[in-house]
Amino acid sequence: MRIYNTLAGKKEEFRPLRKGRVHMYVCGPTVYGDAHLGHARTNVAFDLVVRFLRFLGYDVRYVRNFTDVGHLTEETLRDKVVSKAKEMGVHPMEVAEHYINSFLKDMDALYVERPNIMPRASGHIHEIIEAVRKLEEKGYTYEIDDGVYFDLSKFKDYGKLSHQKPEKLIRHRVEPNPKKRNPADFALWRKAKKDDILYWESPWGKGYPGWHIECSVMSMKYLGETLDIHGGGADLIFPHHENEIVQSESLTGKTFSRYWMHVGLVTINGEKMAKSKGNFILVKDLLKKYDGEVLRLFLLSTHYRSPLDFNEEGVKQAEKNLRGLYNTLFALKSAGRKKDKDEEDKRFEKEIEKAREGMIEALKDDFNTPKALSQIYEFAGKVNEFLSKPRNEETLQKIKGFFEDVKRIFGILNKEPKLSGKEEELIELLMEVRKRLRKEKLYELSDWIRKKMRELGIELQDIGEETRYVIRELR
Ligand SMILES: [Zn+2]
Repeated sequence: MRIYNTLAGKKEEFRPLRKGRVHMYVCGPTVYGDAHLGHARTNVAFDLVVRFLRFLGYDVRYVRNFTDVGHLTEETLRDKVVSKAKEMGVHPMEVAEHYINSFLKDMDALYVERPNIMPRASGHIHEIIEAVRKLEEKGYTYEIDDGVYFDLSKFKDYGKLSHQKPEKLIRHRVEPNPKKRNPADFALWRKAKKDDILYWESPWGKGYPGWHIECSVMSMKYLGETLDIHGGGADLIFPHHENEIVQSESLTGKTFSRYWMHVGLVTINGEKMAKSKGNFILVKDLLKKYDGEVLRLFLLSTHYRSPLDFNEEGVKQAEKNLRGLYNTLFALKSAGRKKDKDEEDKRFEKEIEKAREGMIEALKDDFNTPKALSQIYEFAGKVNEFLSKPRNEETLQKIKGFFEDVKRIFGILNKEPKLSGKEEELIELLMEVRKRLRKEKLYELSDWIRKKMRELGIELQDIGEETRYVIRELR
């Protein structure tokens, strides 16, 4: 199993710290707005990572947080949410609660399995204060009028994740406090301002945590001082993840995370997604238009590290591919079966093994989902051909087993493959008509029905007295 490690700048053999176990942390959303396409991509990508690691037999403990203070308080609550909350007479935690629920609802619709632990920053203020106090004790921090800062001149590896000199990376969303010692120094604890309504008591007075410290504290609390995988969107490499490394490694003196995985950014019709451009796509709006499984397959059709462009055509293609797979599953369900196993059955069982190996090998190479999916589509085509006549029961079971693995790993094919109720009834009605015609020896007409049905992609197979139908055509 090879994973591209941002820290190493290359693919590396994956070796977890604890035998058979993987401890993984992914930065979750800041809950002041609905989930957008970027959230969907990141969370579907890591959902596949967890599913595949579990498929390989690893015991995975997956932690994903909710940022409900700190960053939220600092940037948003004061402006939008607090004013909105004040106006509406709701507490800021009600706002956070609302968006946590809507995030989970969106992720459920995309078949993203819930992490094992979903800690909230607001529930870990005690641990955060402890961590800042320890850093202070070790001499890494200094206090000025608006908060407690990390002194970056004390950490020599700053920039090791982003592979750039930190001076080149500094971006300020807000004008920095001129009293800071170094421009890149970041806040561990922020002091409450006069109109703040959400803060906690601390050794430095009333305040709330800076954004970065919560992830260090919550990940190490539940996963130990060294994680196996830390992930997030590529936009988090700097400063967020760089700062997480600084804090955590200064606290423990140990490697914070052995592997760092980052999911590429999303563009819309070739343009960067931004609220200011009016092309900001919310997951809940997409779900009104498209099926959750279709969106999921669309997101997984691009390798997680590549940029992903969202466009109608791409989603349509995913829809077509998914329908193709369901058609194959339906054909499998209705296929003619027999007891004996002939050479063709045996040969096809080798094809199944080949397809499974191809899929697993692709995923073992840094989760190459597009390659794995193309193997799956190719195999589905072979299955369609194979089902042109009755096949051995056990061979058919093995094909079914392959698609069950696909379901488990990719989180697609969760529904029962079926035609709409009326279509099934109509096919059965035509079959009944054909049977009666044959009884009356009106073979010309009965053969004509069979021929016409075949033209529609519905193959009738007579097995002894019984007739079965198989949907052969991928439409
Ligand atoms: Zn984080």
